[in-house]
Amino acid sequence: MANEVVFADAYERDLTKLAEYEATGGYAALAKARTMGPQAVIDEVSASELRGRGGAFFPTGRKWAFIPKPDQNPNPHYLVVNADESEPGSFKDNEIMARVPHRFIEGCLITAHAVEAKWVFVYIRGEYTRPYEVLVAALEELKGREDILDGVTIVLHRGAGAYICGEETALLESLEGKRGQPRTKPPFPAVEGLYRSPTVVNNVETMATIPPIIDIGGAEYAKLGVPDSRGTRVVSISGHVKRPGNYEIENGTSVRSLIYDLGGGITEDRELKAVIPGGSSTVILRYDEIDVGYDFNSLLALKTAMGSAGVVVLDDRCCMVQLGIRISEFYEHESCGKCTPCREGTRWMTQILRRLEAGDAEQHELDLLLDVCDRINGKCLCPLGETAAIAVASYVDKFRGEFQQHVDEGGCPFGESSPLHNVLAPVAMHTHSPVAVVPA
Ligand code: SF4
Repeated sequence: MANEVVFADAYERDLTKLAEYEATGGYAALAKARTMGPQAVIDEVSASELRGRGGAFFPTGRKWAFIPKPDQNPNPHYLVVNADESEPGSFKDNEIMARVPHRFIEGCLITAHAVEAKWVFVYIRGEYTRPYEVLVAALEELKGREDILDGVTIVLHRGAGAYICGEETALLESLEGKRGQPRTKPPFPAVEGLYRSPTVVNNVETMATIPPIIDIGGAEYAKLGVPDSRGTRVVSISGHVKRPGNYEIENGTSVRSLIYDLGGGITEDRELKAVIPGGSSTVILRYDEIDVGYDFNSLLALKTAMGSAGVVVLDDRCCMVQLGIRISEFYEHESCGKCTPCREGTRWMTQILRRLEAGDAEQHELDLLLDVCDRINGKCLCPLGETAAIAVASYVDKFRGEFQQHVDEGGCPFGESSPLHNVLAPVAMHTHSPVAVVPA
């Protein structure tokens, strides 16, 4: 098999068109799945060892198997697709929906078949105008194609710009027309999800990976990648690299290769200082920690994660205190306010970081910052608060000397020359880099 999975044929042909997609064998996997029966499809996906591509990395087949059978729960089943991609540094789902909309829709229809759902709700980030328009056009082309739709209704729902609505239960609340705040779990969505009915919530990339798995078989797909991280991953590489963009890699490819082979190295041939490996909520890696595989276990050994696959590269002029302010301000702004440690703690983090940057912080405030992070961590209803705390604490942990320098020198040694203006912003959102698969 070719190594491209999600983006197979996408750069040679215009796969936004139904005829082109069908000419490459599109929707054949759906037809095959419908001959297999729901449980056989779940078994095939389980055999592929696919894990969710939204960030939590939960085994997809196992998640689908949690859905009760119709005789166990008579309520309708729903498939909800989380297309609210809002993590700073991540922009892969944008390109997947815009470039291979029919592969994504086919994955949704196969999943709907596997979990016996007749309704699919795609919750798409409100700012994602281009992918939304492409999906609308793709669904228009499918009108009347009952051989493909088979009674399944696909609804596109545009979000209103809240990061927290990427959390699955807040997303469900929002979809129901309520304020987007996380629910307490349990019950989990598989039992009580949308409209209190059994619901599978999956990510865009996960959906786009399903048709190739059904096409070639789970065992064949599982030959790609490394243990616990099978298959490919679309990574968004941004920041201080020469060639930012989305790249489909085989899981296990080294972080160094992502930066220097795919990303083309550091802009202006400067030195690498650090890299955020999986979107803004992950623990940062220092320049000397990049000889590590981009996979679940290898990154876990360094206490970090692939997360939403947003690889943000930082050169040697970047100030880690300024980076902390950017991250902390973001999470402070996006906190839904439901729990005190997150609502108040992120504000405290921002205040201390701003004092450090301005040169107003006293020595004890460095430890106070870590103490605030510690008081958020593990004490929140959803991951937002603790990921903010974990990320910022990792900057202090790995660049403590630089934070100390801000105290000792009474201000920021980098000043306005720290080039963070083009980092963690959607700079690469609209790049159309060629997709490359780098063998692990
Ligand atoms: Fe809301 Fe933050 Fe609590 Fe999550 S951790 S529920 S975002 S207040």
